[in-house]
Amino acid sequence: MSGLVIRNLHVRLEEDPEVEILKGVDLTIQKGEVHALMGPNGSGKSTLSYALMGHPKYEVTDGTVEFDGTDILELAPNERAQLGMFLAFQYPVSIPGVSMANFLRLSINARRKAEDPEDKGISIPDFRRLLKAKMDALGMDHSFAGRYLNEGFSGGEKKKAEVLQMAVMEPHIAIMDETDSGLDIDALRTVAEGVDKLRGPEMGILVITHYQRMLNYIKPDYVHIMFEGRVVQSGGPELAMELEEKGYEEIRKKYAKQVA
Ligand code: ADP
Ligand code: MG
Repeated sequence: MSGLVIRNLHVRLEEDPEVEILKGVDLTIQKGEVHALMGPNGSGKSTLSYALMGHPKYEVTDGTVEFDGTDILELAPNERAQLGMFLAFQYPVSIPGVSMANFLRLSINARRKAEDPEDKGISIPDFRRLLKAKMDALGMDHSFAGRYLNEGFSGGEKKKAEVLQMAVMEPHIAIMDETDSGLDIDALRTVAEGVDKLRGPEMGILVITHYQRMLNYIKPDYVHIMFEGRVVQSGGPELAMELEEKGYEEIRKKYAKQVA
């Protein structure tokens, strides 16, 4: 099957194997689809994105994750990226002295080289054209490309950088974790509208968010709710509206009971 297929994924903390965080996650994201993963704080949303990226802190103890039919759990993070998976967390927080533009060019070249060891890399003029086109499409100021990667970036700028990276890399699946660390409403909107502009038949997108407000700008095809390490409900956009109205209390009552 094409796209990302997660089956019965169980994840523990590497340093404390007593703690199971994901307890059997099932989720399938096909190319061209936008999925939103919602859920209360602590339900395991970020753990899922870390595990998908192959973060060493999180140990997969059961289940499978396939991407376009390839078992990715055996692959290193950079190999997952080469397959066309984009995980917003896979890059260092800050690389002193490396501009956004340089970083993006290096990323493109790494991907090209993985596909063809003889590849000489994208030419500077071609890269400039590509970058300009992507920034224009996203409505981003060109000066952003000259900024040093994540150095002194605000939370909103970091997210903007991720969206630009996503635009340039043209992944087949993108996983965006809106870490709940308060983006202001303008930053949230810029980022969400950017992601919405990037959607297309070749890309599946998983937007992870605690709040419904992000989904005012990215209309998901499917919405899933995670609770205590499982996807407990899936539906269409109406599910997010329902949550907005009722909050997570109902989910808590309904599904916490099963555990007790
Ligand atoms: P969410 O993103 O939905 O808020 P997380 O995946 O961040 O949830 O966390 C799920 C649970 O796992 C929480 O109880 C959290 O405390 C725990 N957890 C996640 N990562 C770690 C870690 N590195 N060390 C200790 N506990 C962790
Ligand atoms: Mg989180």
